[in-house]
Parts: sequence; structure tokens; C-alpha cells
Amino acid sequence: MKPKLIDAHTHVQFAAYQDDVDEVIKRSLAAGIWLVNVGTQLDTSRDAIALAEKHPEGVYATVGLHPIHTDKSFHDKQELGEEGGEFTSRGEVFNYEAYKQLAQHPKVVAIGECGLDYYRSAEFRKKQEGVFVSQIELAQEVKKPLMIHCRQAFDDLLNVLRDNRHKLQTVPGIIHFFSGDVLHATKLLDMGFYFTFGGVVTFSRDYDEIVKTVPLNHIMLETDAPYVTPAPHRGKRNEPSYLPEIAKKLAEIKGVDLEEIAHHTTENAMNIFKI
Ligand SMILES: [Zn+2]
Repeated sequence: MKPKLIDAHTHVQFAAYQDDVDEVIKRSLAAGIWLVNVGTQLDTSRDAIALAEKHPEGVYATVGLHPIHTDKSFHDKQELGEEGGEFTSRGEVFNYEAYKQLAQHPKVVAIGECGLDYYRSAEFRKKQEGVFVSQIELAQEVKKPLMIHCRQAFDDLLNVLRDNRHKLQTVPGIIHFFSGDVLHATKLLDMGFYFTFGGVVTFSRDYDEIVKTVPLNHIMLETDAPYVTPAPHRGKRNEPSYLPEIAKKLAEIKGVDLEEIAHHTTENAMNIFKI
């Protein structure tokens, strides 16, 4: 069975769903929405794989080290639960071999989320860059696309990608929750990148120009749940079954039918993730 929509970037393995993860996944699959749970450090990457193994169809995983998790000071309860609990953020040092082993799992469809985040952790820039380049190399070795997180660092992102251009694959990867400008988007499109858009497009008009710039054959949908809940569900915890709200809004911004958005975003995700 082909899915109706694909949530190309979500995190239902996070602590925010510890009491009802199975129901959340069931609601999503019942609505015809497949999902890709994105790892952010070793334990959340392993948990993403565990969920993919538990569900034979429609649930996939990515593995990677998020730039903010190279910094000891970061702890988000929705992601990791109470401090000192099962999950810990500990300024993780990137272990190439450990991630490589996880990355070879057949239901792992991308490497990340990896990239640069200068919003919360500017003093760790050099460390972030090293960890990002290691994951570019891992993606090249296991032949899977990159799932890139970039916040307030688009000029440096482009520099790192240019410096490592020879390591990028024909379809290099996905820029998740793109927040750069039109020029950044154009340069990334030239390199072959895909873009995901999420809940923010339902309540902010700041992204309309970018959404119009990125062609339908390079767009995918994401919830980034538990974060950035789309309208009309604002104030609640986000989840993949809310994805149609984002698809509807993208259709409106681009001036096309909902079916066209569904068709292209699903095809794009199935091609890039090889699912
Ligand atoms: Zn994310």
C-alpha cells in the first residue's frame, strides 16, 4: 500500500510520547501517513530504529548527532525527559563506528539530524563543523542522504558543503525546516538538496516566498513533532497525524491542488529515502 502522505521528519521516539507512542503511530498509519523518526544522538537514534523494527510498514528511522547535542548544557524535557533520567544529553563525542553500525540497518533512510546551529550554541562552532563533516563522510560511505538541521548558520553551511562537495552524493540530502533566504535556497537547490516544510507555514507568512521558490519536485512535508504544532492545533503537543494541515497550507501558498502536493511530496520522499 502506498501512503497518502509522508512525514519526512518527526520524533515520536522522544520522551514527550513515552506514555502513548504506540497510539500516536497507530493514528498516523490509520490516516495513511508514513513517518521517519529522526535521531538526534545515540540513544534517540537507537530508539528510532527500535520503533521502525516494531512496525513492519510505514515507520522508518534516521541516525545522527544533532549539533546542539555536542554541547553539554542543552537539555530539552520534551526530547529527553527529566534530567538524570533514561536519556541524557552529555556533550556527546561523535563515534563514527557506532553510528556506522546503526546506519547500515535497512530501515535507516538518512544520516542526521546533523548540521550547524548558531542560535543556541554559537561558542561551539568549530566542534559542530567537525561533527557535521564526519556525518557527511558517513552518508557517503553508507550511501544514504543527509538530514540537515541549520539555524542561523546558512553562510557557513554553504561553505562547509562547498569545501566537501566531492563527498556529496548526486542526491545529497534534505534541509529540514528551512529558514534561510531565497538566495541560500537557490544555492542549495543547485547542489541538489530537497527541503521539508512544517507547521510554521500554517501560522507565519515569513516562509511563503521560499515555499514558492522551491519547486514541487524538491519539496517534502514534516511535522518535526513534538515541536511546531500546526494551526488549528496550536497549544497542543504536535504529532504526525496533523500533517494534512501542513499539506493543505502548502497547496494554498503554491496555488495548486492538495492532491498535487500529496503526490509530489510522497513521490519525493519515497525516491530520496528509497522506500
Ligand atoms: Zn527535528
